[in-house]
Amino acid sequence: MTVVRRHPEWIKVKAPHGETFFATRRIVQDLRLHTVCEEAHCPNVGECWGHRTATFMLLGEVCTRNCSFCAVATDGRNPWIPWSRPGWPKASSGSGCGTSS
Ligand code: SF4
Repeated sequence: MTVVRRHPEWIKVKAPHGETFFATRRIVQDLRLHTVCEEAHCPNVGECWGHRTATFMLLGEVCTRNCSFCAVATDGRNPWIPWSRPGWPKASSGSGCGTSS
């Protein structure tokens, strides 16, 4: 006997889509920002970016921690701190993106 396992509807994630999602992605790419959303391969990116919400990584794309469950790259060295970068990261918050988590 074959058991068909069905997942509940709420657990299914739609592929990222929509004008707002792509506008948020464009902001992140244009400003060369690093987000947990991308680095951690977060499955909620379509929904969050579709609502102009993203979680920024202030010290670059590498995390100093080493949590085994997380997809963010880790590095024991001191992180790169781009404090001198003009407009960073203020420019993104002025464009409609927020932060969360
Ligand atoms: S804001 Fe948080 S939950 Fe939403 S996509 Fe980014 S990391 Fe995932």
